[in-house]
Amino acid sequence: MPRMQGKHSEPPRACDVVVVGAGIIGLATAGELARRHPGVSIAVLERESEVASHQTSRSSGVIHAGIYYQPGSLKARLCVEGARDLYEYCDARGIPAARTGKLIVATRDAELSRLDELERRGRENGVPELRRLGADDIAAVEPHATGIAALHSPATGTVDFRLVADALARDVGHAGGTVTLSCGVGEVRETDGVVRVQHARGVTEARALVSCAGAWSDRLAVASGAPPEPRIVPFRGGYLRLRPERSTLVRSHIYPVPDPDLPFLGAHLTRTADGSVLLGPTALIVGARDAYRPWRIRARDVGQTLAWPGTWRFVRRHWRAGLTEIRHALRPAALVAEARRLVPELRREDFVWGPAGIRAQAVGRDGSLVDDFVVSRTGRCVHVRNAPSPAATSSLAIARLVADELEL
Ligand SMILES: Cc1cc2nc3c(=O)[nH]c(=O)nc-3n(C[C@H](O)[C@H](O)[C@H](O)COP(=O)(O)OP(=O)(O)OC[C@H]3O[C@@H](n4cnc5c(N)ncnc54)[C@H](O)[C@@H]3O)c2cc1C
Repeated sequence: MPRMQGKHSEPPRACDVVVVGAGIIGLATAGELARRHPGVSIAVLERESEVASHQTSRSSGVIHAGIYYQPGSLKARLCVEGARDLYEYCDARGIPAARTGKLIVATRDAELSRLDELERRGRENGVPELRRLGADDIAAVEPHATGIAALHSPATGTVDFRLVADALARDVGHAGGTVTLSCGVGEVRETDGVVRVQHARGVTEARALVSCAGAWSDRLAVASGAPPEPRIVPFRGGYLRLRPERSTLVRSHIYPVPDPDLPFLGAHLTRTADGSVLLGPTALIVGARDAYRPWRIRARDVGQTLAWPGTWRFVRRHWRAGLTEIRHALRPAALVAEARRLVPELRREDFVWGPAGIRAQAVGRDGSLVDDFVVSRTGRCVHVRNAPSPAATSSLAIARLVADELEL
């Protein structure tokens, strides 16, 4: 299937709904609205020249099963529902999505109580087929992994989220909507029930707007009158890539027991849809919301990160974890040493530099990393303000939540 790329269909002057952002959330939302409201005109406006240019195409490609999340949270419910929907969607569209399974491995006694808690959460969240393994059972799932206990989730899977986004973009077109690329949205104003959207090709007037702008979501929300909290702070996630001749050391996904104070899952070994094995991601605050090269700095991004009181409170609270992340990002040997706790045969020379993604992580004024998905509303605009992992897995379910929020 050809990728949607470089097309410059003109945006309409007027339509029913404008969706900002052609990542997986914006495209799934546009598709859901088109299905629910046949005859409603929908225009997706995307700043980049391809769909899924940012987080959607730069993730670990894991279809999460819903283990980690606080029971009752949006993440818990929408991840379990979203994973089920995503497998069905991929099946219907011929997109490879395999239940390759995942191990969360405890390697120290101190991690056992946290593994218990993950098991409890997974069961309460309705994660299918979750199993507790003893040390001797680990090798049957991952022959090169070792630990003192593990959780095995056979329903966790692998997909290329970029292919999912491409298929969703085609769905929008088939339903009569438009996806306009290279069309960044600047200003959003609402007067007398009309939303005026100023963008790179002029102005579109709409009855409603949904903003799914990922790392830039706070800016659009604030530009349309929403409160400044929470702000997005960009956390760069860098990966190392396992050399192909050593990739037999990892069958599927091998994760550590995560730090309970942070919403990140910890650097893991993951086999992606193209068969390569990645180690990462790290988690480092960076100077640009698109700092795929680590030293990229944008004055506006740095200014906003530094001006947000939550950034400083976060750094004060988590400086120790921050130093570890800096070490992992700068010294691959340190990251590999962590991975060797899970797979002892790994060596530094087995890895080369890999890709990177930027997490659009919302940070509260008090310095807390906003854990759950956040969808809020101002007038006739709905804003997806926090959609970090597992939002790609949950995208079809998040789209339903957003469509419920929108009055048409
Ligand atoms: C390193 C990493 C690993 C991850 N691993 C996983 C995983 O294994 N499984 C999982 O489920 N999730 C994972 N995630 C999370 C997942 O990738 C994201 O939650 C998901 O892709 C969010 O989709 P989105 O559409 O909100 O954002 P994005 O994909 O970032 O899309 C936002 C879009 O909005 C556009 N945009 C922004 N501002 C404007 C504007 N003003 N005008 C027009 N367009 C605009 C951007 O160009 C972009 O295309 C990972 C994320 C990262 C960074």
